[in-house]
Amino acid sequence: MSRIAIIGAGLSGRLLALNLLRFASSDAAISVRMLDRGDERDMGPAYSYEADYLLLNVPAGRMGAFPEDPEHFLTWNRDRGAHAGPWDFLPRRLYRDYILALVREALQARAGGTTFEHVRGEVTDIDTEGGCATIHVEDKGPIVVDKAVLALGNFPPRHPPIENRSALESERYIRNPWDPGVLDCLSRRDTVFLIGTGQTTVDLAVALHRRAHEGRIIALSRRGLLPLAHGGFDPYESFFEEVKESKTILDTFRIVCKHLDRAESMGIDKRAVIDSLRPDTQTIWLGLSRTRSAGSFVISFVTGRSFVAEFRRRAKPSSTRCADPGSSTSWRGGSVTSRSPRRPWRCTTSPAGALGTRSRLRPSSSTVSDRSQTTAGSTIPW
Ligand SMILES: Cc1cc2nc3c(=O)[nH]c(=O)nc-3n(C[C@H](O)[C@H](O)[C@H](O)COP(=O)(O)OP(=O)(O)OC[C@H]3O[C@@H](n4cnc5c(N)ncnc54)[C@H](O)[C@@H]3O)c2cc1C
Repeated sequence: MSRIAIIGAGLSGRLLALNLLRFASSDAAISVRMLDRGDERDMGPAYSYEADYLLLNVPAGRMGAFPEDPEHFLTWNRDRGAHAGPWDFLPRRLYRDYILALVREALQARAGGTTFEHVRGEVTDIDTEGGCATIHVEDKGPIVVDKAVLALGNFPPRHPPIENRSALESERYIRNPWDPGVLDCLSRRDTVFLIGTGQTTVDLAVALHRRAHEGRIIALSRRGLLPLAHGGFDPYESFFEEVKESKTILDTFRIVCKHLDRAESMGIDKRAVIDSLRPDTQTIWLGLSRTRSAGSFVISFVTGRSFVAEFRRRAKPSSTRCADPGSSTSWRGGSVTSRSPRRPWRCTTSPAGALGTRSRLRPSSSTVSDRSQTTAGSTIPW
């Protein structure tokens, strides 16, 4: 019997377990052990909170666990009485419940001889000798398996590269935005400075608005781009067959750009072009890692066209509305380079080409600038 350990019980680990259980046969029984520091009912930082306002950033009609049935998640919810449509953004906790239910069903229907166990603990080391992997789990004996899969997800964010490291010890600085009770230390009128403008920042801005936070909320990202709001748009026909034929990464890039231009001339939303490739992104991604020019491709995407940033980050429209005029949230371009523990943050801006303006924080008793300015601005009390 083949022994498999999946380290990490987030979405990736759970989907792998689901598929192993579905496809194991009694001729080829397997033993699956899933190891995670979290509780058996958790599913990684994205899906382990109960709050209904923490929403999926992909519409329900596209979150099905099975590629052949994108609406499977939607149908699962409707079968349980939810009045949801394909373009609705459902709470992330429902997605966790959905995936855990699928794993339970697969477990019940598994082939004879196949076993599954959830082990709670922190994996501290792995030895690979003699064709096996020996997994060391804190406060538990070693687990020996034939194959170990790392499904560790994202690590906690890095500290910003600031000169004054002691500032990072400040109780006003919070490194891990997913810590439970992360907002509890705030007073209602505090100014909150969020580094980054992705899904986590949207989550925190929404949570602050729901708590009727009265202080300013400022979000900073290197490019000052806002998360795009999802919206309904006509589909664009997949051109994966064309992408598949491309010989180099730059060829792929050119093909995608050609279709973006084509969509524009046809009056189709450019996001539909990217969405048309979604079912095949894993194949494209796996191809990238084997290509020597992958690094230059990513660099040209990120720095040249800002392609990834422009199309990847999307959120529910009402979530992004936290940044509308009249709201206390503002979004700025820049990167954090320095901070004094006693003095407020200061942000100065420098031109960042077509992408707007870039900013830099430095210790100062004065100001934070607007994106539209180049050198001056207003103070963020810390
Ligand atoms: C706040 C937030 C919201 C998101 N919302 C969406 C969304 O709406 N839609 C979407 O498609 N994607 C969303 N994402 C992206 C999301 O991260 C991925 O979709 C998916 O959850 C990643 O799953 P994963 O299994 O790779 O990693 P994770 O979910 O991070 O899981 C990794 C697991 O590994 C465990 N682990 C790590 N190291 C060890 C160790 N040494 N020992 C034991 N256990 C360990 C962790 O405890 C964790 O449970 C969101 C991400 C975040 C952070």
